[in-house]
Amino acid sequence: MKPRPSFPARLESGAAAKKTAPASPALGASRVMPQPQGLGMDSAAHRQRMVQLVQKQGVRDTAVLAAMGSVERHRFVDTALVNQAYEDTSLPIGLGQTISKPGVVSRMIELLRNGATGKLGRVLEIGTGCGYQAAVLSLLAQEVYSIERLRGLHDKARDNLRPMRLPNLHLLFGDGMVGYAKGAPYAAIIAAAGGEAVPPAWVEQLAIGGRLVAPVVSSGPHGAGTQALLVLDKTADGVRQTLLEAVHFVPLKSGVA
Ligand code: SAH
Repeated sequence: MKPRPSFPARLESGAAAKKTAPASPALGASRVMPQPQGLGMDSAAHRQRMVQLVQKQGVRDTAVLAAMGSVERHRFVDTALVNQAYEDTSLPIGLGQTISKPGVVSRMIELLRNGATGKLGRVLEIGTGCGYQAAVLSLLAQEVYSIERLRGLHDKARDNLRPMRLPNLHLLFGDGMVGYAKGAPYAAIIAAAGGEAVPPAWVEQLAIGGRLVAPVVSSGPHGAGTQALLVLDKTADGVRQTLLEAVHFVPLKSGVA
């Protein structure tokens, strides 16, 4: 298992590292190795700046901003990228996939919450990736079911999330195009990968009164073949769909690998 990055990335000399290492490291001890004083605060300050940045982009939901301010994004990216963890940028997470920009994550979760004052009920996330967005969601929902189709990333997310001990977050390995019927109906469904259309299973598994936010390939105002953010509300009378701004997500694929 790779040692988890501390923040900011600073390689300690062997001697200095030995000093702080526990005498007999327990399983996963590298994750919780005491950090030199001040580094924890540095990471909190960087996170706060990131929160201000997404606020400037128009995100107002204070619960979303608080959750973004508390999840340590640097723990979800490779050591070499730790210094970029709190920039508003997407970053590679392996297997050709990316962790979404903090601005996009908070925008989508704000849309998903749709002005809710309390926690969302059960939420389904398609595309766990490194697990970052799942962690943010777990602070804002009663239960989160997150599906990933790539075994390597499903395992990586499990490793990343283990030290956070989030009992309401359930990681699933499988094809998210079919949703996860066992957890349905969902108060909210969010996809981190974009397809040509919203798979019917997602709409079926959404509760009446529930909301789905997903990137879809659109032929709309942003041009053919580009992605836009879709908000779908399910009501007793049917579904209402609204297409918003252009976005760039990895493609939604079927099957597992
Ligand atoms: N929310 C993630 C973003 C990961 S990128 C994060 O915070 O890191 C989107 C992910 O969707 C990729 O890991 C990709 O493998 C996954 N994906 C694409 N199609 C999928 C499908 N049909 N089912 C489940 N996951 C899928």
